[in-house]
Amino acid sequence: MKSINEACFKGKKVLVRVDYNVPLNDNREVTDATRIIRTIDTVKKITDGGGIAILMSHLGRPKGVASDKFSLSNIVSKVSEVLGTHVTFLGDVLTADAEAKVNALKPGDVALLENLRFHNEEEAGDEEFARQIARLGDIYVNDAFGTAHRAHASTATIAKFFPGKCYAGYLLYEEAHNLDLVLNNASHPFTAIIGGSKVSSKLNIITYLLDRVDNLIIAGGMSYTFLHAMGVKIGNSLLEEEMIPVAKEIINKAHLKGVDLYLPIDNICADKFDNDANQYVTTHNDIPDGWEGMDIGPRTIKKFAAIIKQAQTILWNGPVGVYEFQNFEHGTQSVALCVACATISGAFSLIGGGDSIAAINNYHLANHVSYISTGGGAMLEYLEGKVLPGIQALNDDK
Ligand code: AMP
Repeated sequence: MKSINEACFKGKKVLVRVDYNVPLNDNREVTDATRIIRTIDTVKKITDGGGIAILMSHLGRPKGVASDKFSLSNIVSKVSEVLGTHVTFLGDVLTADAEAKVNALKPGDVALLENLRFHNEEEAGDEEFARQIARLGDIYVNDAFGTAHRAHASTATIAKFFPGKCYAGYLLYEEAHNLDLVLNNASHPFTAIIGGSKVSSKLNIITYLLDRVDNLIIAGGMSYTFLHAMGVKIGNSLLEEEMIPVAKEIINKAHLKGVDLYLPIDNICADKFDNDANQYVTTHNDIPDGWEGMDIGPRTIKKFAAIIKQAQTILWNGPVGVYEFQNFEHGTQSVALCVACATISGAFSLIGGGDSIAAINNYHLANHVSYISTGGGAMLEYLEGKVLPGIQALNDDK
């Protein structure tokens, strides 16, 4: 994959696939501009280099139908504000008007196309649609890591129309680089902390990580399926019955591969799924009927802290308890603090997944971890060892 550092943008029209699928409120104002902010460096690199940046994205799920609600015109002013420059709205990619507006742009200008998903052909990866988008540019840059796991027209198919002129933007490059670093070039001990509610959604990641990590911490709702598989009483805690054989297999595999697997050794339980539920801390693991595990207990926190402290590489995905409830957030907060402390002591830490990122932000620790992956689904697929179509398309362009 070539980075934009290798490109010459002077006088060129540069089609940049970004992921501006940002949240909007009822007044259609952007409520979180992180995804726009993360593209500043790429856009500046193009415009400072004398290129014209033609930004393209999707927004929401319009399912092939144009509507005001999903129009990227709603975010033009925010994009202008964040990028610190005027942004021309080009309208629909297929129109002659968009083409005329592009032809009127000057080096250093920035423009934004209408939501590409107003055409079903975008998500279908349609070749003719990709050709139509491609007619507007001389160079293709993909900076939409969050959409790189989709083989859509603007994320993958389009690359074939720019032979030798496809580049990864800084965000996409950085995301792939940091995930690669963790997966293929980690310093040891390498500790992965996998939490969240479901074994089924993290199964592929866990399997892939077993060949890479020294320590695997499994916590959160999913840990109860593992504990149940080991014969521990889990009361009314989350259980995925159909995953019990899989959990047993993971435990065996970890043993065979010499991976130290750590599960909770005590729990904070509640008599209902509520912040104000009655709660108590189990002495060991067994949870009686009528109670459910909501967070890791103090002995577990101590144990996990000791493992995390020794780590040289840390990957954290998923909360270790119902951190949305203040009374059950302590475990997740402690893990966040331990990861930050280890990072300050020299470990490389990568945090991913909406809930872990939210936790790190809630506790104001974002500046004390090495890298926060914003990829969502794309990051999860990367961590499962899949080659993402958006990255494959850039790799194929040598
Ligand atoms: P996931 O999307 O699979 O990463 O799961 C994140 C969700 O897992 C968060 O909303 C947490 O509240 C939830 N979670 C974590 N621990 C538990 C638990 N012990 N019981 C129920 N839900 C949990």
